[in-house]
Amino acid sequence: MAEHTKCLIIGSGPAGYTAAIYASRAGLTPIMYQGGQPGGQLTITNDVENFPGYPEGIQGPAMMQDLEKQASRFGADIRTGLATSVDFSVSPKKVIIDGSYEITADSVIIATGASAKWLGLESEQKYNGLGVSACAVCDGFFFRNQEVAIVGGGDTAAEEAMYLSNLCSKVHMIVRKDELRASLIMQKRVLSNPKIEMHWNSVTEEIVGDLSGVTGARISNTQTGEVSTLAVTGFFVAIGHKPNTEIFKDYIALDDAGYIQTEKGSTRTTIPGVFACGDAQDNIYRQAVTAAGTGCMAALDAERWLAENELH
Ligand code: NDP
Repeated sequence: MAEHTKCLIIGSGPAGYTAAIYASRAGLTPIMYQGGQPGGQLTITNDVENFPGYPEGIQGPAMMQDLEKQASRFGADIRTGLATSVDFSVSPKKVIIDGSYEITADSVIIATGASAKWLGLESEQKYNGLGVSACAVCDGFFFRNQEVAIVGGGDTAAEEAMYLSNLCSKVHMIVRKDELRASLIMQKRVLSNPKIEMHWNSVTEEIVGDLSGVTGARISNTQTGEVSTLAVTGFFVAIGHKPNTEIFKDYIALDDAGYIQTEKGSTRTTIPGVFACGDAQDNIYRQAVTAAGTGCMAALDAERWLAENELH
């Protein structure tokens, strides 16, 4: 017989861990599967300066370790493993872990977050790990004192360009419009950084390289048609994220971009007993603190739903 739990949490970013803290303190003895990237996106970031309670900032991985410890302290059963399929048409709900292990749950909290988007170039995949990366904080170190490029104009790209400028000899920032989407403060920092060269209205046509890895990036200007090759050894992609919701799409309503739809003011999905929190359902705020907030909401919603249905 499959293992059963009252409350299953899928995913281990700030949303999942906060849900685990609340659910375990409420006596739901939740089981959490951490997913493919235990700790989530914050484990591939450096300083977190905007999470309340850390006046000096904190490293993303350290913060996630603290959240894990806090959830464990109240009895959350935290396990490694990736939810690979679900069946939400049955009661209790069924979730398969790592393709084979079956677990049933009265309530499910989805906190699967989002993953980095890629440009979709063949050369991008060819040189992935050989100079191409979606995480400057993870891989920037390999390119110290070298010339690199970063694509994107949002806060992530701006933050990563700043990070790379501390390590690399020069950072080319490739932006497809003539403006940055990043917050004003980040725009100011990037635009006044002498090590960052902006390439406006520019798209990447190809990443070029040889057996040793990336040697350049061919970009073209959409206004002038001019094509140029930047002599870079590192190529960073920072163009946003897509929610990790593929396995739920046959059961719960998603929006056009794949984000889970939740009822206004709650974390309820279209399936009773299934709740969603964090970046998997939020394409607007996408912050650690808002993810944590919705993780708390999901645990409270799950607890109430279990009580209403006499399952707790
Ligand atoms: P965003 O969606 O905000 O920005 C994506 C950027 O990539 C945009 O400039 C976009 O261009 C560009 N882009 C998208 N697709 C392509 C493509 N195919 N080719 C070239 N460029 C492309 O994503 P972010 O990851 O930067 O940020 C996500 C959210 O997280 C935001 O709300 C942001 O504010 C927040 N954030 C906050 C931080 C903080 O507060 N410390 C740090 C990092 C992120 P275009 O503008 O033309 O659409």
